[in-house]
Amino acid sequence: MKHLVMIIEDEESLALMLRYNLEKEGYEVYVEPRGSKALAEVERRRPSVILLDWMLPELSGVDICKLIRAKPDIKNIPVIMLTAKGEEEDKVKGLSAGADDYVTKPFSVPELLARVKTQLRRAPEPLAEKELVFKDIRMDLSEKKVFRGETYIHLGPTEFRLLKMLMETPGKVFSREYLLKNVWGDNIYVESRTVDVHIRRLRKSLNEYGADYIRTVRASGYAIDVTPQTEE
Ligand code: CA
Repeated sequence: MKHLVMIIEDEESLALMLRYNLEKEGYEVYVEPRGSKALAEVERRRPSVILLDWMLPELSGVDICKLIRAKPDIKNIPVIMLTAKGEEEDKVKGLSAGADDYVTKPFSVPELLARVKTQLRRAPEPLAEKELVFKDIRMDLSEKKVFRGETYIHLGPTEFRLLKMLMETPGKVFSREYLLKNVWGDNIYVESRTVDVHIRRLRKSLNEYGADYIRTVRASGYAIDVTPQTEE
């Protein structure tokens, strides 16, 4: 499970820049520009860490921070305040409102990423999903088992991770490069053909017990989809 970083920031260009850099680091990102909606979104999405702008329309960052700290179910989520004000007095105000850290704009991206990482060390692990279901395919994530209907299907660890990625967003076409990066990891050198080999194995194991829902999209990649057509 990826950590979710929630950015509460009304300045669009800054939010976009943060989103880009945080996603590159492998985080899920949700941006909320409206102060009035922020609290409800925090409660609904339960981010692992919050980047909170000081100056927001409607509700200020300080107010939002106080509200977060007053709610037992979300009060432990780390909050990093972002502010254009560099004054010591504001820093004290931010921290006394319950912020865990305080970053003054303009800040460097590596600096901010380091602060996020520090806060995540003390953040609770994201709630793991227990199962993924697509048609008659069911993945029990805590037991790491795959079933088609009632039939247990043995998959190798790579095929399991591949299937999990596809099943997390049915219909989405994942490029070979994306799959390589997210299933195999950044530091391992494998050719993109390797993806094809493992998809073939995955298909072989799955399709023995039902229709082929893995779609090959020529020159693009793979998806899990109800269209059981393949272009191989
Ligand atoms: Ca602002």
